Amino acid sequence: MSNLIELSTKTVSASKLKKLKRIATAQLESSTHMKPMVAIIVRGKRVIGTGTNKAKTHTKQAEHSKYKDDCKSVKLHAEIAVLNNTPKDLIEGADIYILRIRRMDGSLGTSAPCSACLSACVKAGIRRIYYVEEEKETTR
Ligand SMILES: [Zn+2]
Repeated sequence: MSNLIELSTKTVSASKLKKLKRIATAQLESSTHMKPMVAIIVRGKRVIGTGTNKAKTHTKQAEHSKYKDDCKSVKLHAEIAVLNNTPKDLIEGADIYILRIRRMDGSLGTSAPCSACLSACVKAGIRRIYYVEEEKETTR
């Protein structure tokens, strides 16, 4: 999929990546999941929504999961959470950034969206989806 982009200093500026990490770190506490994920929707230069994954099951996630079978759990993912939190009319054409932050040291973990979240993003009109493949020196 061409609108699925690896988030690194090769695809965004170092200052933008730093800002995204800062926003994600600030959202960490609202995630109740062992492996926290933060999704941020950006329109132009403005952050219009943030969402975190939850350890509790969620009906909205289940709704999207039924399309694909690789989303085993119906616990709320950060991507669905941010789509719920953001005004629908602003989402169309906006970009989403998905970051997994390790609680231990604040480094970035793999954050590729599952197929349920991917289809939910596309359906909502998200333009580009940025995710982290693996933390590299360039993203520090
Ligand atoms: Zn997902």
